[in-house]
Amino acid sequence: MSVAISKVFRSAMSGICNDRPELVNREISLTARIDVLPVRGADGLANRLFEPLGYEVETIRHQLDSEFEEWGESPYHSVTIHGTKRLSDLLTHLYVLIPVFDNQKHYFVSDDELEKLISKGENWLKHHPEKDFVARRYLKNRPSLVRQAMARLVGDEETSVEGVSGDQQEERLEKPMSLNDQRLGAVVAALKASQARQVIDLGCGEGKLLRELLSDWQFERIVGMDVSIRSLEIASKRLKLDRLPPKQAERLELIHGSLMYRDKRFEGFDAAAVVEVIEHLDPPRLAAFERVLFQDAKPKTIVLTTPNSEYNVMWEALPAGQFRHSDHRFEWTREEFQAWANRVASEHGYQVRFLPIGNDDPTVGSPTQMGVFDRE
Ligand code: SAH
Repeated sequence: MSVAISKVFRSAMSGICNDRPELVNREISLTARIDVLPVRGADGLANRLFEPLGYEVETIRHQLDSEFEEWGESPYHSVTIHGTKRLSDLLTHLYVLIPVFDNQKHYFVSDDELEKLISKGENWLKHHPEKDFVARRYLKNRPSLVRQAMARLVGDEETSVEGVSGDQQEERLEKPMSLNDQRLGAVVAALKASQARQVIDLGCGEGKLLRELLSDWQFERIVGMDVSIRSLEIASKRLKLDRLPPKQAERLELIHGSLMYRDKRFEGFDAAAVVEVIEHLDPPRLAAFERVLFQDAKPKTIVLTTPNSEYNVMWEALPAGQFRHSDHRFEWTREEFQAWANRVASEHGYQVRFLPIGNDDPTVGSPTQMGVFDRE
């Protein structure tokens, strides 16, 4: 869409009009409507990005499929913006912000992209309250480019944490403690204690837990599920799925699916692990997740972990108020997590207990919190 705008409206966007040059700098009442805009991220993102530029914003979010209400909402919105603007400014705002909403990493960003952002954004982006976010998304989280962009837009070199991609940031924060290993250990211990033989790892990512489970013969059937094909491919490579001895290979299966939709393949397990996944789900979608797991799949045991946001003050590299990973939609305090887990457990006939993972600080608790649910 951005490419199309820059081609079709090239002269208008550059502020060139041979016949009526006096109109180029005139602010006129303009309305732009994008019928289908993928908006990935928090609710109200269109307002957060367009309103500071002086637009009135109207958005309608569309269902994924009107015939299947339970599939929930899609990322697609119809967005209308209205304001008194120069035409070239409106087109430039759309040109820069459309890919920011989408956030799909479907092409490689190079230095050209940095130049485009600077040339199209220099007049307005530096005053925008979400400039870091816009630059990060536009430049697909490439730290060095984001740093350069911020330096050139606002003359500020001190944006390093903003410029680090989510995965690197989370890894850098957690590495010294090897929280990852402690978490895996705790999850495996809880699964072993539940005497589960058939386990499904929901949101298995690159398969770290699957590898641990595979090495323990208590677990007879192990299924890893993720929404990301890319993660499943990496998991398959790391686990050397194509080269496992037949006896091992028989125990393990990777499936592509989503926690948002009821799926027969999730049923019939003794236990499910949901490790560092729920904080990646949009809060309005949690209800769907609860139904899929606790009502439909309903394994005997559910081991679920999520960050404890109270602990974030202990990470020196994490600025106040930031999440540990750029894709986290929320991070809960212990009280928030326990309130959620207690409600879900009581609604669906489970008992839940809570365990800290990692260094348990007397004031802020542990970095990761775990809930172990047992069906009554
Ligand atoms: N459990 C893994 C990965 C955690 S990262 C680990 O501890 O290493 C979160 C994972 O959840 C990602 O792999 C992501 O693709 C997956 N995920 C996010 N939303 C999902 C959904 N709706 N359904 C299934 N998986 C999802």
